[in-house]
Amino acid sequence: MARYTGAVCRLCRREGVKLYLKGERCYSDKCAIDRRPYAPGQHGQTRKKVSEYGLQLREKQKARRVYGVLESQFRSYYQEAARRKGITGETLLQILESRLDNVVYRLGFAASRPEARQIVRHGHITVNGKRVDIPSYLTRVGDVIGINEKSLESPRIKELLESAETKTTPAWLERDLNAKNARIARVPSREEIDIPVAEQMIVELYSR
Ligand code: SF4
Repeated sequence: MARYTGAVCRLCRREGVKLYLKGERCYSDKCAIDRRPYAPGQHGQTRKKVSEYGLQLREKQKARRVYGVLESQFRSYYQEAARRKGITGETLLQILESRLDNVVYRLGFAASRPEARQIVRHGHITVNGKRVDIPSYLTRVGDVIGINEKSLESPRIKELLESAETKTTPAWLERDLNAKNARIARVPSREEIDIPVAEQMIVELYSR
């Protein structure tokens, strides 16, 4: 279960947009992209002409980094999206949105996707009443996502549940904060997926 372990703010600076990988810090004046709005590294401030391939590659990397997915897994999601009926780019994003770590983040049960991943890995999350500790687990319509009974005593989980009250969830998730769970009501539409990615360019990249 590999994941990127380097400095995450570099990823935002490379993509030129906020990817919100550090929770509260992303909304403060400590955000690295606000302080240094150029690519990291020695040549980060030099202007470069970007090829069409380069643009497509950036869109793919951006999507990968938003969801915290490594290349091989991302490619397999693409292959699955291409196999299914519908618009491949949109289906790809819907698959990524259905990942358990993303759902936990969308529900406001974590401050960032990396934290959601950790919460899942530590066994704090249940799907249909059973503990699931696999962040890449793909949820389905009708699944009920909950917090493990024992985890409700954890100070961090308590804190997150309190702050979840101030956060709104997308309409495709029916959250019940009293019951501390949520149901996947339907598959999200493209308009409901607020990530700044041109998914068609990812399809073009993989179709080369
Ligand atoms: Fe990205 Fe958040 Fe770091 Fe800002 S603080 S650069 S949004 S990870």
